[in-house]
Amino acid sequence: MLTGRRVLVTGASRGIGEAVARTLAAAGARTLLVARRPGPLAALAAALPGAVAHPADLADPAAVAALAAAAPNALGGPVEVLVNNAGLFTLAPVEGTDDATLDAMLALNLAAPFRLVRAVLPAMRAAGAGHIVTIGSVADRHAFPENGAYAATKFGARALHEVLRTETRGSGVRATLIAPGPVDTPIWDPLAPESRPGFPTRAQMLAPEAVADAVLWALTRAPSVSIDELRLSHA
Ligand code: NAP
Repeated sequence: MLTGRRVLVTGASRGIGEAVARTLAAAGARTLLVARRPGPLAALAAALPGAVAHPADLADPAAVAALAAAAPNALGGPVEVLVNNAGLFTLAPVEGTDDATLDAMLALNLAAPFRLVRAVLPAMRAAGAGHIVTIGSVADRHAFPENGAYAATKFGARALHEVLRTETRGSGVRATLIAPGPVDTPIWDPLAPESRPGFPTRAQMLAPEAVADAVLWALTRAPSVSIDELRLSHA
């Protein structure tokens, strides 16, 4: 279904990004996998046909630029599908959010996706085809306590997606926002949701494969159909 399609997936070493990489590779895509730690990334790339690992800290603008420059060589041509997935999530009230946390979330959740979109879009426009997928969140529309920095970046990422929809309409380039509720991934490990009143248990969370399945579905609609936004929650 995605035979030979050149796909860049950020945050691909675990959680939702790993599930997306596995699902798209199984559908025939060639994947360029990005995360900071080389070990898990290399192991995943070795397990997936046509996958290449590119370790990088996307919070660093120079590393994003280097990734954008390296991607066409690594994939054998320009990026055809970008999945902006890598993200950082911590909980703190606004007055308890320090500069380091705020800066890290802005850099990874908002600036890095912006920079990657800016880098891959010209070749997509020239080809008259391409797909940019943003992994959003229930927190990109709904306010929760202790989500000040995270929600600010996710509302911003949704805004970027919506602007992109207006700017790419009619160009052949599509953009999809996939916004899940809680998903059972390692992002929750330091937060111990089971010990926080009002938080979902792991069993009440979506599986990462459900998000990957939504990504695959959006990518495989007819070229004339744009799936602008999908919002997922546990039934
Ligand atoms: P996760 O399990 O913590 O995985 C995060 C991935 O991003 C890892 O591959 C990690 O690898 C990579 N990463 C982290 N910092 C990075 C950096 N500075 N540069 C490059 N890569 C980096 O997270 P997840 O739950 O799968 O979340 C993925 C996305 O879904 C995020 O955008 C998140 O906001 C969104 N989301 C998650 C949930 C949920 O409940 N899990 C719900 C809604 C939306 P390294 O550590 O090796 O870099």
